[in-house]
Amino acid sequence: MHVFYSEKRRGDFLILEDEEVRHFRVRRIRRGERFGVIYEGDIYICEAQRQEKNEVVCKILEKTDSKPPPKEVILYQCVTVELKTMDTIVRQATELGVLTFVPVISERSFRNKDAILKRIQKWERLVREAMKQSRRAIPMSIKEPLKLEEVEPSARENILLDNFHEGIKPRQLDLSSESFCVVVGPEGGFSERESRMLREKGFKSVLLEPYTLRSETATCAICSIIMNC
Ligand code: SAH
Repeated sequence: MHVFYSEKRRGDFLILEDEEVRHFRVRRIRRGERFGVIYEGDIYICEAQRQEKNEVVCKILEKTDSKPPPKEVILYQCVTVELKTMDTIVRQATELGVLTFVPVISERSFRNKDAILKRIQKWERLVREAMKQSRRAIPMSIKEPLKLEEVEPSARENILLDNFHEGIKPRQLDLSSESFCVVVGPEGGFSERESRMLREKGFKSVLLEPYTLRSETATCAICSIIMNC
């Protein structure tokens, strides 16, 4: 089933605008064909009532049971020097059910805050695309960048992924917790000072076996473990 994204409701109708109108045309939806529309945290089954130049009016037929993510994950992702990698991480984190995405500036990360702020708009568009693709109704919210020093362990389980450091195995975490903070380093990893600072704040250093992963792989692996265990 095709899925679209709406930010406007008029009574029993959801309205597709802008980019979504183009997406709707590309999909060549036929008259009477049913499709999904994500609106304010729910997915509705709809059919097209009328198509105009700037909008598609969709009649709501029923509301589906859309699943919220099973765990509340805040991802503190050090901004990779290769910004395109961040685009991939944003998409994958959305698919995996991360609720909050915080870009983090660390010693070895991409460090230009203005450039990161500019990129957030693109990331928000990627979140919407990934939501449609993975039938996720609740958005992943993207926060303004923080410095690594500002990151605090606010969840039941607070994880530092650090391949330079002895760490516990994922199964030694309390994976039944309902909330997690996860900190992942950039391509060059964390400095010794950064790693110590986070551990002193209460983050548990976790080592994923058996090899050293790219930042984006490490993020996917830990999020998948958290969501599925
Ligand atoms: N440049 C480093 C690799 C850094 S990998 C080196 O050559 O060793 C980038 C980030 O991914 C790390 O900071 C860490 O957060 C995460 N990561 C990669 N592999 C990992 C592993 N095996 N266990 C835990 N975290 C890992």
